[in-house]
Amino acid sequence: MPEIDAEQESKEILNAYNGMLRAAKHAKKDAVTRKRMRTAFYVAVEAHKTDRRKSGEPYIFHPIAVARICAEEIGLGATSIICALLHDTVEDTEITLEDIEEQFGKKEALIIDGLTKISGVVDNNVSLQAENFRKILLTLSEDVRVILIKIADRLHNMRTIGSMRRDKQLKIASETLFLYAPMAHRLGLHSIKSELEDLSLKCQEPQMFDEIQHKLKKTQEVRARFIRKFSSPIKDELERKELVFEVKGRSKSIYSIWKKMTTKNVTFEEVYDLFAIRIIIDSKSENDEKSDCWQVYSVVTDFYQPNIERLRDWISAPKTNGYESLHTTVMSPTGKWVEVQIRTKRMDDIAEKGFAAHWKYKEGGAESQFDKWISQVRELLESSNESSLDLIGDFKLNLFTDEIYVFTPNGDMKSLPTGSSTLDFAFAVHTQVGENCLGAKVNGKLMPLSHQLSSGDQVEILTSKNQKPKEDWLNFVQTHRAKSKIKHSLNEERRKVAKEGKGILEKEFKKLKISYENISLKELQSFYKVPSDLELYYDIAIGKIDLTKLKELEVREGVLRPKRKIVKRVQNLFGQRKVIGATVKNLQKPVLVIGDNMEKLDYNLANCCNPIPGNEVYGFITVSEGIKIHKTSCPNTVQLMSNYAYRIIKASWIDEQDAAFLTGLKIIGIDDVGIVNGITQVISNELSVNMRSLSFDSHDGVFEGRVMVFVQDTSHLTNLIKNLKDVKGVTKIEQIDK
Ligand code: MN
Repeated sequence: MPEIDAEQESKEILNAYNGMLRAAKHAKKDAVTRKRMRTAFYVAVEAHKTDRRKSGEPYIFHPIAVARICAEEIGLGATSIICALLHDTVEDTEITLEDIEEQFGKKEALIIDGLTKISGVVDNNVSLQAENFRKILLTLSEDVRVILIKIADRLHNMRTIGSMRRDKQLKIASETLFLYAPMAHRLGLHSIKSELEDLSLKCQEPQMFDEIQHKLKKTQEVRARFIRKFSSPIKDELERKELVFEVKGRSKSIYSIWKKMTTKNVTFEEVYDLFAIRIIIDSKSENDEKSDCWQVYSVVTDFYQPNIERLRDWISAPKTNGYESLHTTVMSPTGKWVEVQIRTKRMDDIAEKGFAAHWKYKEGGAESQFDKWISQVRELLESSNESSLDLIGDFKLNLFTDEIYVFTPNGDMKSLPTGSSTLDFAFAVHTQVGENCLGAKVNGKLMPLSHQLSSGDQVEILTSKNQKPKEDWLNFVQTHRAKSKIKHSLNEERRKVAKEGKGILEKEFKKLKISYENISLKELQSFYKVPSDLELYYDIAIGKIDLTKLKELEVREGVLRPKRKIVKRVQNLFGQRKVIGATVKNLQKPVLVIGDNMEKLDYNLANCCNPIPGNEVYGFITVSEGIKIHKTSCPNTVQLMSNYAYRIIKASWIDEQDAAFLTGLKIIGIDDVGIVNGITQVISNELSVNMRSLSFDSHDGVFEGRVMVFVQDTSHLTNLIKNLKDVKGVTKIEQIDK
């Protein structure tokens, strides 16, 4: 280890601090603020006095550098500088949040708390989990400075990444590309975003990076010459118009060249000359800005032919990250398209440094696009009760994709993520408009809900009071807002239905004389295999759940639970009887008396022969399904009686009044167009007969139909058969068991 010259180090630390202060000219420089900053500096120096960075230099250089980035490159003020100086103290040293609050105030303590939490979740994990991402965003919604300082912190770490372990470098670099660069982009910090990308690439693909950098240098002079030649007539004309301006030529960043090369599979030579010429005007006042820019546009296009389709006016409609600029692509004399960006100094500052830079111009200004964005983020986070994973998916869409701009019939502009539908637009206008949306007129033409919008579309939403959100709407929308509103409304609808289900359930328990207080809903949910109360009630209401099965439950030890097995078996008997066909009324069990004592016992009808009242029957005691009732004419009777005589018990019908029984009929006839109609008409006209299923077959002109019907008894059935025989074409009817 080299000898450390403490005195020399102290001097260098103080120099670094003073350098930072000079870069923070815009921060309030009254005595109190100056003193607070100095105190923060001393507290940090003291706290980190024994810490050193991996490079060996005193740790305090890092917080000072972060504070300097905040001030100089993002344009933040004194509060952020203080917090940046202290940003690692709570996490890494003895200093507590209470200390910070006591010495600097509540706001500072909150920001540092946010920073500590973020590094807790981001820096100490191998991979970034959705939950962590959510935490970051939650913090962001509290105070955006937390995110800005964190980005500055990351930028400095990336600039000094060389002294870290290789595996850590790669982890940090990919995290930077995944999270920090897009975030910086979304916050409008263009140069920081570019630098983060370049530094990450340098770390991940060092050879490729060097190669591109080298080639860029080699071709620099060619570009410079081109720019001089291209801009010279424009310059002369602008000077003649007495505009104060500056012309810059900017090549693409190394990262974006690399990205183009890899995604489009092209060589450096094919992309190196992609660059923009930027004309920056020093407008006399903010009121002149727009007309100044258009004046420059007019000059540029006087000399060079513009591609009308590539005109972008982000002055009239700034991007949500605050970007303002006028872009046009024109044909140069060498036959190459060149993008020209026209903007004022103020716009350029915002484009490079983001909104914070703008705050320098407008202290406590009116509601800006930025504030709007922050409040959107907050709304989104507050309204969300979904899993983090959903959130990150939806959020990424909102946060990182480009926007389109569409207009209401009155010309109000809405910005939406690329790929948004008319339905997204409707929800952006108003929740009610979204919920009642039928379709839309896009540029005067009728379009469906799912129609994908493009920038510049004028959209008139058509609504109807009777319209309600549908499940499949979720497939048509992109924005988090629309998704959550639709989900909310669908749930609301389910809740209403579920309420009815709850009522039905309560009544059912009353019938069973079980007090509702004794019911364990958990037990019921697992009994019916549904995941939640809501689902349970909903399924009851729509009839998906068979409440007759409740007989399989009992209150034991004060709690509702499935009956013990032996008891369950007997109770199960009736529950097994399945009756389909909603119009069947009076599904009382057919009344049988069973055994020598003629008792009313529970039983099941054997489905091999489907006995009905009036048939001769007997009971058979099965091993697992209780008593089954068979017709004496059942084909199984001989076998059952000879092998299990001891299980046979007497059974006979005692009441044939109002029960309905399932039986089958085979109808043979001559194929005729009208025969099906005739048969169904007879069945539906016959009082109290309900059809469960029917199938028809036709072979060589011979018709064969099978119908399952519910009838009351044998005489009822006889009558039905008689009427069916009268249908034109029917020649024969047989009773069948299934
Ligand atoms: Mn740090």
